Amino acid sequence: MKPPAHRAPHPPDDEPWQDSQRRMFLRLAWLGTLACALALWVQRFAFDPLDRVALPLLALTLLALRGAVAARRVRVHTAVSVTYAATTVYFLLALEQQFRAFAPEVHMLSESTYWFALLYAAPFLLSPSRQALRWAGGTYGVALGLCLYHLGFGEVRGDLRLTAAVLQFLLAGAVMVVVQATFGVQRMHLLAAREAAYRDTLTGLANRRAAEERLAALAGQGEPFTVVLFDLDHFKRVNDEHGHATGDRVLRGVAGAARGILPDGGLAARWGGEEFLLILPPQEGPDVRRLLDTLRAQLRDQRHGEVAGVTACFGVATTRPGEHPDGVISRADAAMYAAKRQGRNDVRLDETHRGRG
Ligand code: GH3
Ligand code: MG
Ligand code: MG
Repeated sequence: MKPPAHRAPHPPDDEPWQDSQRRMFLRLAWLGTLACALALWVQRFAFDPLDRVALPLLALTLLALRGAVAARRVRVHTAVSVTYAATTVYFLLALEQQFRAFAPEVHMLSESTYWFALLYAAPFLLSPSRQALRWAGGTYGVALGLCLYHLGFGEVRGDLRLTAAVLQFLLAGAVMVVVQATFGVQRMHLLAAREAAYRDTLTGLANRRAAEERLAALAGQGEPFTVVLFDLDHFKRVNDEHGHATGDRVLRGVAGAARGILPDGGLAARWGGEEFLLILPPQEGPDVRRLLDTLRAQLRDQRHGEVAGVTACFGVATTRPGEHPDGVISRADAAMYAAKRQGRNDVRLDETHRGRG
């Protein structure tokens, strides 16, 4: 029997917070749609000409993006960028319009300008600081241009109360962009530090800490998974005979091959020394054997200086319902050591796979 299609919580080697960003977008898309509907409802007796067209369009865009992100057809970052662009265009058009229809009468800016704070802050939460500065700075520049144009040449020219309101709006916006840009740089440093904390420097794979967190997250969500623990055979000899630098090259080659054969939703990690761990969506015996045969063939064919191919022992185990990750790892470990004891260069499936291939 085939296992049910497995929806992995994270794409391979992806940042752990990708998934929380996805959930955030799905929620925000609902909220945004609701906000558009509410804004239209309060205007039901006299629609604003811009809102009548723009808000349904914005709501439809959000719903379409929400569907695409939920189905994993569109990346969260793309969806957020499109949402940001659409929302920014809407609020800039609203700003332009209020200088003609609203501000000349009430000598103030409307409440829709409150949202500009979000337009200035959001890019720094979502993108690297330089790109974010372009987005926020671009939005600010257009808003500034519109305000200066209308105060200088528009119908509202000479309106002191409105000028004071607009200056506060512009000043608050400038402060917002500067503050966010400063914190944005710090945030990027933090992200880089976090990235470094979860990556093995030699091979570029996820490190043991990242793997342990993934295992704990999967177990916490009650998601079944298969682990493959593998240890290179007689690796000490590679170091002894060809030098440590060649040993390092072999390890990098093994890491590249492991990364290359990963199915969707899998994670390859350096578990320690010359030992690697694959965390995979639940696999039937024949499937995991096929996958590991591909990996073993690639390891055999690799050439690193005088080292012509390496072999390894692989231990495979799949979670039992409610099992702690330590349990499945120690079963994979036992299977791997059984292969070592019986001559090396082999794949051993623990009893969770016996009788199933
Ligand atoms: P077995 O088949 O029983 O696993 O034998 P082995 O020689 O692979 O195992 P052993 O545990 O005796 O030796 C592992 C070697 O892996 C020893 C260590 O120097 C080497 N090693 C661990 N980490 C690194 C590394 O980062 N770079 C290099 N070049 N070698 C490493
Ligand atoms: Mg070892
Ligand atoms: Mg070894």
